[in-house]
Amino acid sequence: MTARILVVDDIPTNVKLLEARLMAEYFQVLTACNGQDALDLCESGQCDIVLLDVMMPGMNGFEVCRRLKSNPITMHIPVVMVTALDQPEDRIQGLEAGADDFLTKPVNDLALVTRVKSLVRLKMLTDDLRLRASNGDELAMNYSKVMAEVNAPKERPNVIIVDDRSASYEKVVTALSKSHNVTVETDPNDALFSIVEGNYDLAIISLGLENFDSLRLCSHLRSLERTRLLPLLVVAVQGQEDVVSRAMEIGVNDYIKSPVDMHELLARVKTQMTRKRYNDCLRDSVQQTIEMAVKDSLTGLHNRRYFDMHFPSLFEKSFALNKPVTAMMCDIDKFKSVNDTHGHDVGDLVIAEVANRIRKNVRNVDIACRYGGEEFIVIMPDTDIVYASVVAERIRREVEEHPILAENGSKQVYTTISMGLSSIDHESDTPSALMKRADNALYAAKRAGRNQVITVAA
Ligand code: GH3
Ligand code: MG
Ligand code: MG
Repeated sequence: MTARILVVDDIPTNVKLLEARLMAEYFQVLTACNGQDALDLCESGQCDIVLLDVMMPGMNGFEVCRRLKSNPITMHIPVVMVTALDQPEDRIQGLEAGADDFLTKPVNDLALVTRVKSLVRLKMLTDDLRLRASNGDELAMNYSKVMAEVNAPKERPNVIIVDDRSASYEKVVTALSKSHNVTVETDPNDALFSIVEGNYDLAIISLGLENFDSLRLCSHLRSLERTRLLPLLVVAVQGQEDVVSRAMEIGVNDYIKSPVDMHELLARVKTQMTRKRYNDCLRDSVQQTIEMAVKDSLTGLHNRRYFDMHFPSLFEKSFALNKPVTAMMCDIDKFKSVNDTHGHDVGDLVIAEVANRIRKNVRNVDIACRYGGEEFIVIMPDTDIVYASVVAERIRREVEEHPILAENGSKQVYTTISMGLSSIDHESDTPSALMKRADNALYAAKRAGRNQVITVAA
């Protein structure tokens, strides 16, 4: 696991020290001695993680961090504040500026390597998502939307605390309850089930549970599909440094030391929530991109591309198993005149509404596609032509009998459709021959005067 780490510090000795330690772990190291250079390097996409000194002349570390986190191009880069002052206020100020973590000087080797490795893992996950989300500038265009969503959570986040001692969780509950829905699980044996069953945005797990190995719970959560990405924050008691570093290796997102400083806790929780929302947004956008690739945006039906990808294999399967398949072609009659009379927007609406009526009358297993402008195709597996023509006739009638309402209901548009159906021939048939016959049937329906269903024998 290698990554490019940017070390920012105005004192060359400090830079050299961190550089040497990181290079010993085979990280690539870049350096900058002031805030502006750091911002430039980050914006040009040259680094994966930033180790940022707090006290620098000119722009201090907090300001650099704030700028990185408010710039859509750099907001996903993890930032670790490196501070000489072991002052809780300082850490909190860093976390509030959006830093993902902090280290105190002199930097402890174990802490440095553990933190950096855990952030590298996070960064890889995020990069992977970003890569899949971004077709060219697509992601950039979505940035303002993503930012708005990341910075303005819609609901109160759900947090679960796993702790068996009321003395240690009560204050935490009080502090978090102001802006979170908080659940406490006091029986660690039930914790896995509670977390998997619940819909949580964060789990805070005590490492000091009586007769219970919290790390086992953490690793279990990491391995389950439902909780694989759930942010985990562990609370460590004095002397648990080893346990903490093992926790980070397992994939726990963050830790805090007991007795818990409430300001620090709130800042860390906030950081985890922001990260989670950011990744959730990216994941949604990946999902959208995948759907867009196979869906028609006007009608929500599958697009031609989806059809071309799936029809041949569906056909082959039915052919091999000697099962019926019927293809239904459908075209809106005299659609040009709809456009000419009512305008293109109403035309779009008519296409979308006809698609709706088709969708309502077919099953989930049927593949309904927008095949072209005002042309649709439905492939119906396990369906013979007799049954399919009943369905087709029902759709045709629904279109004919119910006008489509446009312009807030003030306009009624009457339209009709023609349909052509053909079924698979188990003697000798191909996907394209089946399509051709359905198309011929549709053409026959048009010639016979439109607004009708015609079936052709195989
Ligand atoms: P026919 O009964 O023979 O099918 O006549 P028609 O007018 O429906 O057929 P034709 O293929 O001549 O015209 C289809 C028209 O559909 C032409 C095109 O401008 C229009 N069209 C294609 N796609 C869209 C679209 O997405 N939105 C709108 N509003 N119109 C479209
Ligand atoms: Mg300095
Ligand atoms: Mg037409």
